Amino acid sequence: MSTLTLTVLGCGSSSGCPVINCDCDTCLSTAPENKRSRCSAWLSSDDGASIVIDTGTDFRAQALRARIPHIDAVLYTHPHADHLNGVDDLRAFCYKQKAAIPVYGNGFTLANMQSRFDYAFLEPREFWDKPVLKAQGLQAAQTIAGLPVQAFNVPHGRWTISAFRIGNIAWLTDLNDISDEVIDQLQGLDYLFLDCLMDHAYPSHLSVEQAFAFAQRINAQQTYLIHMTHRLEYHELMARCPERVAVAYDGLTVTSGL
Ligand SMILES: [Zn+2]
Ligand SMILES: [Zn+2]
Ligand SMILES: [Zn+2]
Repeated sequence: MSTLTLTVLGCGSSSGCPVINCDCDTCLSTAPENKRSRCSAWLSSDDGASIVIDTGTDFRAQALRARIPHIDAVLYTHPHADHLNGVDDLRAFCYKQKAAIPVYGNGFTLANMQSRFDYAFLEPREFWDKPVLKAQGLQAAQTIAGLPVQAFNVPHGRWTISAFRIGNIAWLTDLNDISDEVIDQLQGLDYLFLDCLMDHAYPSHLSVEQAFAFAQRINAQQTYLIHMTHRLEYHELMARCPERVAVAYDGLTVTSGL
C-alpha cells in the first residue's frame, strides 16, 4: 500500500498571523503554532507524486520551508489573493522541470486566473522567465499525478468554490456551508482539514461552533481546523476542541494509506 502525506504549508486567514501592526496576545505570542502563513497544503505520495493546493501570498517561503522538490499539479480552491497571488513563484518549478505545470480549478477560478495572470498561460520562452501554466478543468472525480482526486462545490459567500478529497484526506477551506450530499461523500476520512475563521459568524466562512458541528457530522478520524484569524489563539482553541478535533499549525504533517 502506498501512502499519502499532507503537509500544512499554511493555516492562517487572509491577513496571516501575526497581523501587520497588531499587538494582540496571539500576534505577540512566541509560540510557533501562532505563526500562521496563508492557507495552503502540499500532498506527496511515496510514489513521488507532488500536488500543491493553492499558491497564496506566502507560497515562496512555504515551498522553501517544506523543501518541495517538484510540483506535478496545483489544485486551486478559488482565486482570492491569499490563495492565488503567490502564483509567480511556480516559475522556479517550471524552470527546473522545463515543463508547464497543470493547474486545476472550476470554470470561474480558471477564468479569473487567466484574466489576472494572462502571461502565465503563454508558451514557454527560452529563459523560462515566467510561470508556464496549463489550465485544466476540474471534474468531480479524476486522477491527477496518479492520485485519486475528488472535487466538491462549496459556497464561499457569493462564490461557488472547490474543496478536495485525495484518498482519505480532505481539504475544505473558505466555505460557509457544506451540503448534505458533500457530507455523504466525505465519510470514511482519516483526516479532515476544515475552515474555522473565528468565533463570530461570518458570511463566507465557518465560525468555531459551525466548524465543530460539521466536524461531528463528517466524523473523520481526526479533524484539524485551518484558516484561523489572530482572534483564535492556538492553545486556547485547542482547550475548547472536542474529541478528535485539533487546531492545525504550519508545518503539521499527516500520513494516510492510499
Ligand atoms: Zn482564504
Ligand atoms: Zn493580532
Ligand atoms: Zn477566500
